[in-house]
Amino acid sequence: MNKIIIAIDGFSSTGKSTVAKQLAKRFNYIYVDTGAMYRAVTYFALENELIGADFFDEKALIHRLGDISITFKFNEVAGFAEVYLNGKNIEAAIRTLRVSKYVSPVATLSAVRRKLVEQQQLMGKDKGIVMDGRDIGTVVFPDAELKIFMTASAETRAKRRYKELLDRGHNLSYDDVLENVTTRDRIDSTREDSPLVKAADAIEIDNSDLTIEEQLETLTGLAKELIRY
Ligand code: C5P
Repeated sequence: MNKIIIAIDGFSSTGKSTVAKQLAKRFNYIYVDTGAMYRAVTYFALENELIGADFFDEKALIHRLGDISITFKFNEVAGFAEVYLNGKNIEAAIRTLRVSKYVSPVATLSAVRRKLVEQQQLMGKDKGIVMDGRDIGTVVFPDAELKIFMTASAETRAKRRYKELLDRGHNLSYDDVLENVTTRDRIDSTREDSPLVKAADAIEIDNSDLTIEEQLETLTGLAKELIRY
């Protein structure tokens, strides 16, 4: 059976990772959430006071990139791989609005992107991988066999993210979440290095009115067409 690379890109909170995770499980593929890697670098910057409300010491962060080791370890109970920073599980710590606020500026830095893209390409060298992010089909794996570009209205996305954060016990307002989603989309789409754009050969899926099951069926069908058994 041949293995393929499935690249899933799209705006913030389009539910990419939920579907990507399940798709990977269905094909027994590796799943990599590249957003978690940018969040891990941001968490490191926050912990080391390199970024804050009114400052961002870009040079110091770039200087310290060598001190950052990001790994994934499969959690049998959760059913997916959790992210570790220098050996510490930071899966929950990176899913806060605080990290979401600072991640897009951090992700504009070319030195950060170079480091993470290199690691992502290594993880996909044997194919059999589902990777989601913003530049997977354009930069990380421009030759990926299947490229998906997920979209949904900003309100739909903010509602989903708001519910997710409330369910995890975070105390915040819907307006803050909507603001964060739209600001991140703006920064991610307009940055110079690897902006979020739909690859010319990507298939666009607007999932505003699709259930997870429906999305999963669509993607499974598309992938099966490309996998020879
Ligand atoms: O996917 P998630 O929303 O967790 O990503 C967090 C942020 O990481 C994005 O808003 C974007 O700034 C950055 N990112 C990126 N390139 C990727 C994945 C994420 O720039 N491939």
